[in-house]
Amino acid sequence: MTVEEKRKYYREYMREYRKKYPERGKERGRIYSSKYRKKHPEKIKESRRENYRKNKDKILDKNRRTRHNLRKQVIEMMGNECVICGFDDFRALQIDHINEGGSRERKKLTQQGIYRKIRDSPHLIGVEYQLLCANHNQIKKQEKREYRLSVLRNE
Ligand SMILES: [Zn+2]
Repeated sequence: MTVEEKRKYYREYMREYRKKYPERGKERGRIYSSKYRKKHPEKIKESRRENYRKNKDKILDKNRRTRHNLRKQVIEMMGNECVICGFDDFRALQIDHINEGGSRERKKLTQQGIYRKIRDSPHLIGVEYQLLCANHNQIKKQEKREYRLSVLRNE
C-alpha cells in the first residue's frame, strides 16, 4: 500500500468506526473538550465574550421573553388577580410572602428564583405565597412597618 492508499483506508475505517460506535466518539469529544477548557480558560472566556458581543440583542431578547413567560405562567397559576380586591392587570400584580420572610428569601433567591420555586411547588400557593396588586402589597408593607414600630414602642 502506498501512503496515499493507507490514508484513504484509515479515513474509511474511521468513518465506519464512528458510524458503528457513535457514543465512543462523543465521549472522546467530551473528554477532549473538557481538557481543552481546563487548559485554555482564557480562550473559552474570550469566545463566550465574543459570542455575547455578536448576539447581544438576541440573547437579551430571549432572556426577556423567558422571564416574561415564567412570570406569566406563575401569575396564571396563582389565579391572575389580587386576592384582596380582584384587580387583574398583569403589569401591577406582585407576589406576596404570606408569612413574612420576604426580604430574607429575596437575599437567597432572585426574583426569577422565587417564580421558579412557585412554578415547581404549586402547593405553596395560598400557603406561603399569594398574589397582591401593587396597592395592597404596599399597604401590607406599611402596616407591617407600623406594627413593628408599635411593638418597639411597647404599645
Ligand atoms: Zn388589591
